[in-house]
Amino acid sequence: MSDPADSLLTSIACTRCGCVCDDLRIEIRGGCVASVQPGCVLADEWFRRATVPYEGAVAEIDSQPASLTDAVVAAAALLRSSKLPLFFGLSRSSTDGQRAVCELADQLGGIVDTTASLGHGPSILAFQSAGESTSTLGEVRHRSDLVIYWGCDPVLSHPRHMERIVDTAGLAVPSGRAGRHVVVVDCERTATAERADEFLQVDSGSDLEVLSVLRMLLAGRVPRCDSVGGLSIKTLAQLAERMRAARYGAVFFGVSLAQGRCGHATVETLLRLVTDLNQWTRFVVRRMRVPGDVTGADSVLCWQTGYPFSVSLTRGYPRYGPGEYSAENLLAAGEPDCVVLVGGERVPRFSEAARRHLESVPVILLDPAFADVHVQPAVRFRTAVYGIHRRGTAYRMDEVPVPLRPVLSSELPADDEVLRAIRLQLAEL
Ligand code: SF4
Repeated sequence: MSDPADSLLTSIACTRCGCVCDDLRIEIRGGCVASVQPGCVLADEWFRRATVPYEGAVAEIDSQPASLTDAVVAAAALLRSSKLPLFFGLSRSSTDGQRAVCELADQLGGIVDTTASLGHGPSILAFQSAGESTSTLGEVRHRSDLVIYWGCDPVLSHPRHMERIVDTAGLAVPSGRAGRHVVVVDCERTATAERADEFLQVDSGSDLEVLSVLRMLLAGRVPRCDSVGGLSIKTLAQLAERMRAARYGAVFFGVSLAQGRCGHATVETLLRLVTDLNQWTRFVVRRMRVPGDVTGADSVLCWQTGYPFSVSLTRGYPRYGPGEYSAENLLAAGEPDCVVLVGGERVPRFSEAARRHLESVPVILLDPAFADVHVQPAVRFRTAVYGIHRRGTAYRMDEVPVPLRPVLSSELPADDEVLRAIRLQLAEL
């Protein structure tokens, strides 16, 4: 006889990566995830890990099990005595949790930064200066006959990106993969390069020069050299011509462009190249976002404060300061005296100086029970996961909001429930 909880859930969204695929079928058997279809190695691991039953304490204070109420009181006391609290993370949360972070930071006069400042932050600055030719992923699927992956390896990082966009038939591309030309530009041969029609290997750190020469060639000027960044001018001229001749082209670029040498200038040059191409055809450019709802973190911060990341609310109104108000720089300078981590998975990406300071101040950590912990928190809350245990909204890498439905129930509180409880407690102190 089957368990009454056995069920087959359809149209479930996955927040493991920025694709936020919303077509999953999840079979629940005996209160656990038995299968995830269509197959995706990352989604399978994510759903199985996130749905392992958790029986332990909901919270800890100084590594000792604590009730939710006691942990809320302890967290509120730490924040009450803080002169400069920093709120960081947000990309594994959801709209409700991200909004609650803004409310609490606003109430306390703190600084909010997201994981974008360790990833695509320079890309966001480039968008603000050069603009962005955007589209939805659906538009790319239906119309593109040329897809370029630049500095990213979606076969490993976003396993269903090609399946859903490149391989699938679209309205203007009825033959699917056969009707598209796929180019990979990267500094080494990747798994995605193996599936492409063309692989162009550039010297590491030379993307800016290569993109600049592509712009020159499209403008009808020929550089006075035979090659740039490891590619011959002839090869680049062929790529430029292919881009110009495409009916609809799309470039997806990875965080390596933003985090590489001159990241901001590199992304800005790519954006301007795509703008140039729109003189002749329709061309779009999109970032490959990695954590599930980092795009939502940008969107909610913009909606709540007017700015996408690195926002100071210390004067009672929002001030934008990438660099100045970035978590990495603030921590390395030893400025915050209390840190609220809404998701701590990016802590290993901080510099040694930043991590040293993080170890020296009280940390309030909100993370799922299954998360790896990279810092010793003063107060830890084990939270329910949006899209696994709670409803929510996540933004896909193309900024389309996707509703999240729960797969299993959990007694653990969600980020917004913890943060609002702390706000209420602060009001009583
Ligand atoms: S590609 Fe990403 S969002 Fe889609 S199912 Fe796989 S891990 Fe989930």
